[in-house]
Amino acid sequence: MKINEEPFYKEIGKEVAIFDASYEQKLPVLLKGPTGTGKSRFVEYMAWKLGKELITVACHEETSSTDLIGRFILKGTEAVWQDGPLTQAVKKGAIIYLDEVAEARPDIVVAIHSLTDYRRTLFLDKLGEEIKAENGFMLVASFNPGYQKGFKELKPSTRQRFVAMSFEYPRQEIEIEIIKQETGIDQNTAKALVKIAEKIRNLGELGLTETVSTRLLVDAAKMIKTEVGKRLAVEVAIVQPLTDDEEILNTLKNLTQLMI
Ligand code: ADP
Repeated sequence: MKINEEPFYKEIGKEVAIFDASYEQKLPVLLKGPTGTGKSRFVEYMAWKLGKELITVACHEETSSTDLIGRFILKGTEAVWQDGPLTQAVKKGAIIYLDEVAEARPDIVVAIHSLTDYRRTLFLDKLGEEIKAENGFMLVASFNPGYQKGFKELKPSTRQRFVAMSFEYPRQEIEIEIIKQETGIDQNTAKALVKIAEKIRNLGELGLTETVSTRLLVDAAKMIKTEVGKRLAVEVAIVQPLTDDEEILNTLKNLTQLMI
């Protein structure tokens, strides 16, 4: 996909310069961080900035190297080879974004190996072919290091093949600006939402698997702009998505209702 319009992306650190440098040096990039911290938006922005085609694969438990590389499909009585998204990106010199790479089956690590070092080649084992990546090809992957159980880890030997950047929740002023830009909500409401997020993020003792992301705040602001009402919007867009535990739900409801 070629991105024609500039996506709104608010830089949080030095990520734009780091990505530019990695692209120039032909190094693969790993974006680490919890969900909803702007990783996908950042990749879209960079693809736009560099004028490159972006091919995104949302990895899940069933994603295998075949899904990335390609497979033979039956056309009538004939078996025809069809390039997978990774092969397409390698041939076109596009950016491939493997979102949540750690979720995929382990065999994809083997598939991307030779692309992440000086060889920049992809082996199409089913065809017995080896293809060299076009000049502008870039491999970008994201993963959620989640320190709680249930999250998959990425092997050190794989991680060390990437330039890696951490995505965290942005500073207050920046997060307020993101919410305002994304939704057109007023300063005071945006600020109140960020305060709620900060409060919940600091409640480590609740043991939430994932805490309030910028995405949840953007969604809450969108709901507030409707007829739903601020308090209900916060409940359904921030509190309810976080947990199913009745006790924690009540704690969070009581806490947030006082802040909006
Ligand atoms: P991730 O890929 O980390 O799960 P996304 O890139 O999908 O997260 O971000 C979720 C939403 O949060 C975006 O759609 C956007 O509204 C907002 N967002 C988060 N961080 C930023 C940022 N730095 N600039 C612009 N929007 C952001």
